[in-house]
Amino acid sequence: MATFRFIALEKTLGRKVEQVKYPSNKVSDYFGSMTFNQSVMHEYLTEAAFRAVMEAVEMGESIDRKAVDQVASAMKAWAISKGATHYTHWFHPLTGSTAEKHDAFINPLSNGLALEHFQGNELVQQEPDASSFPSGGIRSTFEARGYTAWDPTSPAFILDNTLCIPTIFISYTGESLDYKTPLLKSVAALDSIASKICRYFDKNVTKVYPTLGWEQEYFLVDEALYAARPDLVLTGKTVFGHASAKDQQLSDHYFGTINDRALAFMQDLEIEVHKLGIPLKTRHNEVAPSQFECAPMFEEVNVAVDHNQLLMHMLEKVARKHHFKVLLHEKPYAGINGSGKHNNWSLATNTGVNLLSPGRTSKDNFRFVTVLANILMAIHDYEELLRASVASEGNDLRLGANEAPPAVISVFLGKQITEILDEIERMPVLKEINGHNGRHVIKNIPKIPEILLDNTDRNRTSPFAFTGNKFEFRAVGSTANTAKPMFVLNTIVAEQMNKFEQEVSNEIENGLPKDAAIFNVVKRYIKASKNIRFEGNSYSAEWLKEAEKRGLSNNRNTPDALPAFISKKSIGLFEKHNVMTRTELLARYEIKLEKYIKKIQIEARVLGDLAVNHILPTAIQYQNRLIENAKGLQEVLDSKTYVQLSRNQLNTIKEISEHVSSIKEGVVEMVEARKKANVIADYAQKAVAYRDTVLPCFDVIRGHVDKLELLVDDNLWPLPKYRELLFIK
Ligand code: ADP
Ligand code: MG
Repeated sequence: MATFRFIALEKTLGRKVEQVKYPSNKVSDYFGSMTFNQSVMHEYLTEAAFRAVMEAVEMGESIDRKAVDQVASAMKAWAISKGATHYTHWFHPLTGSTAEKHDAFINPLSNGLALEHFQGNELVQQEPDASSFPSGGIRSTFEARGYTAWDPTSPAFILDNTLCIPTIFISYTGESLDYKTPLLKSVAALDSIASKICRYFDKNVTKVYPTLGWEQEYFLVDEALYAARPDLVLTGKTVFGHASAKDQQLSDHYFGTINDRALAFMQDLEIEVHKLGIPLKTRHNEVAPSQFECAPMFEEVNVAVDHNQLLMHMLEKVARKHHFKVLLHEKPYAGINGSGKHNNWSLATNTGVNLLSPGRTSKDNFRFVTVLANILMAIHDYEELLRASVASEGNDLRLGANEAPPAVISVFLGKQITEILDEIERMPVLKEINGHNGRHVIKNIPKIPEILLDNTDRNRTSPFAFTGNKFEFRAVGSTANTAKPMFVLNTIVAEQMNKFEQEVSNEIENGLPKDAAIFNVVKRYIKASKNIRFEGNSYSAEWLKEAEKRGLSNNRNTPDALPAFISKKSIGLFEKHNVMTRTELLARYEIKLEKYIKKIQIEARVLGDLAVNHILPTAIQYQNRLIENAKGLQEVLDSKTYVQLSRNQLNTIKEISEHVSSIKEGVVEMVEARKKANVIADYAQKAVAYRDTVLPCFDVIRGHVDKLELLVDDNLWPLPKYRELLFIK
């Protein structure tokens, strides 16, 4: 009987490239067509209501009740015209994904008829039964009330005939139960102080907002092969699998021609997300086979985060049509590159300036250097917290595991910016700050017009790299709700800028003119933050040694990284800026630990099940065949020839026996370790026990299983192999 694996393989051979139908030749015809965007609002709202919403978006003003009712009725009319039958508050609970509970627009009347119904109060607030969302002990189930409340700054959209309204999610007692609330608060904290600092340079700045352009990596795998791998289905990653003879050694996938099936998927994805107003712009092959990346144009951070959450959902949804499964896990396959999310982050002003863009004039550069020095100090002082913001069980397999950026946070600036900072350090008093900007030009290649080169070189190994006009935070995991690192980054920069303002004021009080005061503080910061700067290869062993000497943290896994979240320093920081309370931080800490434990627990169960019920019977079946064969040989050969010829055969039988017994022992040990860990009540200790006693069993068991994969008859092997999973037919 053919195994599930061969049935799956046969299915993949029959796959056709799905037809992609563009709604129009011009993306502008349908971009944002499923969002309640500005032009729709213009059409459906009175001028006053429209202005109220815009002021809420731009200035953070709250919208009055009358306008809210108008917006609700406009949304309803618009949504129904687009075929929507239901509406839902769409939020980001602490599970890390998104949540929704749909209600129909229908309102039955007493005469047996019905009306569509949706009013301001339904738009503004809902109370989903939230008792099953993780709350880290903020709510016990008997006080399970949680409220969602409309976020007018992120456009509502229609998906699957349902009007989705982005909302925050808070408890009855007012604590945030989501990631959006602290993000919005961090944006406000940063705005108020960064605007002040910008006014040192330009009086017209009234608003500063963070911008985010994320790059999302993912793997595609055929859905039939996926279904034949219970580990992928249940954990999102493979727990076994010998390396394919060829995978990424030749670097022939990176930026390669995109496979037809994958391309059709991407085109469909783009169409669907463009309708939802996500400005997806870039698509390309990544390093590992079947690994890809997409990236939008950057947006204001709150909208960008919502769009990333929505994109992850759409990836999975659109993949179905193309008979793919999307793997968002940070490390679905051992031995080849994992997936991350690169967060390109900067600060923009209402005057249209990107604060991380080096300017053309000395004045602009002075502002640029001021902002830069503050960011350097912020990362310097809070590197451990930033590391904690991206900690997860999946991401542990990237950070600190010889791949992607290391768990040590450092900042890369590039040669030109470094030169500028060095120059400032040497300046006794404020002088012209040269741009070093003007991208340099290469002109001497025949027939090619002149080429403009960027003002930074690249360093792919740095976790926090300056890339010309923004920072790229590369340590974020591919599955993460990217609000987490973003609210941490916003808050630490806000804190730093507050200190900066204080120090500048002090210098001014001591009699220095404003510019000289700023210059002095900036110069001090450049010196004081040096430890966080590193321009070399962040993967190298030398750097890890050097980083240790510099006193930088190197928290290689989640249980080590998380405590930075609830340190006195961290609690003080978040409370001061009204981003999160102690209770909210403790809740998140507990939820993260619990998630870590549960993920490893699930993986251990899957791994044990596959080893015992799939791999061992297969190995024994093959071994029996060899034993039969050896017996047969003994019958037909004379004893001398038999001894000579059967040696390899008998060795293989022995080898299989050894692996089989090691796997059995490994599984027993793993189960024992789990039992012991499970009785520990304290989450932090339990997480450490899982890390130190359960997790190490995985590699041991896997080692034997992967060896068996090489020994056992290919026809019997039950699980699709790496060479089959990794290459799209
Ligand atoms: P890379 O070469 O690293 O792929 P790109 O220039 O293509 O970088 O940009 C990657 C991402 O950075 C995109 O999403 C882009 O919109 C975003 N980005 C560019 N400028 C900014 C900015 N000022 N703030 C935030 N993100 C930005
Ligand atoms: Mg990039």
